[in-house]
Amino acid sequence: RFRAFVVREGDGARSAGFEELPASALPEGELTVAVRYSSLNYKDALAVTGKGKVIRKFPMVPGIDLAGTVLESRDASFQPGDEVLVTGWGIGEATFGGYAGLARVRAAWALPLPRGLTARRAMAVGTAGFTAALCVDALEDAGVRPGGRPVIVTGAAGGVGSVAVALLARAGYEVAASTGRPSERAFLESLGATRIVPREELARPGTRPLESETWAGGVDAVGGAVLASVLRQTAYRGAVAACGLAGGTDLPVTVLPFVLRGVRLQGVDSVMAPAAPRARAWGRIARDLTADRIDALTTEIPLAEVPAWSERILAGQVRGRAVVAVAP
Ligand code: NAP
Repeated sequence: RFRAFVVREGDGARSAGFEELPASALPEGELTVAVRYSSLNYKDALAVTGKGKVIRKFPMVPGIDLAGTVLESRDASFQPGDEVLVTGWGIGEATFGGYAGLARVRAAWALPLPRGLTARRAMAVGTAGFTAALCVDALEDAGVRPGGRPVIVTGAAGGVGSVAVALLARAGYEVAASTGRPSERAFLESLGATRIVPREELARPGTRPLESETWAGGVDAVGGAVLASVLRQTAYRGAVAACGLAGGTDLPVTVLPFVLRGVRLQGVDSVMAPAAPRARAWGRIARDLTADRIDALTTEIPLAEVPAWSERILAGQVRGRAVVAVAP
């Protein structure tokens, strides 16, 4: 048997709490993993609280990230004792995720723990940090290079944002951090931001379809009016990687940034990202995020605190990343 955080729904009623489940409750998959760490992402909070339709099957063990040790393997690429991590692929949404002592996953979803990362630090990065790395890769692919105008990161004090600031600064970009929390200025500067942009400046509706060319590019975790402002202010042939919706799902823009400035808007998805971009993003993380940089943006919480912290992350109150200690 194993301990799990379980969300149940049926007949209009919803319940969420800790249960002891039999191993026979685990889903199909080639790998059985003793989970050591998971993490708390915005999407996990939506799943845990029921404030977003994230869970596609009930009962569900949430947790879109997990890292731990292989206990049993029916796939030649992994042996018992291997340390692995899984992010996305529907864990915590369509099949059991990381908020449990045991997990069973497809071998194709698992990555060996990247060299230099512990299970805890891999989960401190987690889906949010992996997504930040995919965004930086997207800007690089779009031709945005260090040395020109700054790159702006929105939702900068959150999980995706803080890792994006750290990665961009490390890659040599001048980084502007947009935040609604002025109290996080020192935190963002410690990660490498050299300019702080108050969220209100971007959140107000634009009066002109284009504004002065301020950014070489952007990483946006917010969406809505904030993303629209970033697009209006992006310089000729700049690019914006859009991965989030913490501020809304609409996008009130005109086509002018695209047709007059050749601005690119690149969507970024982490869940189904194929093997090659996945390996590239984790390679960037392992190369550019030193242990002290990761630790500086991490708070560790026990699994029991996930429900309370879910409310906090949805209220925009969590700084950086929350790593969840399942069985460290
Ligand atoms: P997070 O830690 O809560 O960060 C979100 C940040 O957005 C907050 O810290 C806050 O930053 C800002 N924010 C919150 N509410 C806002 C509002 N109403 N208006 C404007 N800004 C607001 O969450 P996360 O885990 O980093 O995820 C960030 C977003 O990316 C979420 O929407 C998530 O669903 C999305 N995401 C997408 C993918 C993908 O595959 N596409 C992967 C991971 C995450 P400040 O306090 O600094 O303003």
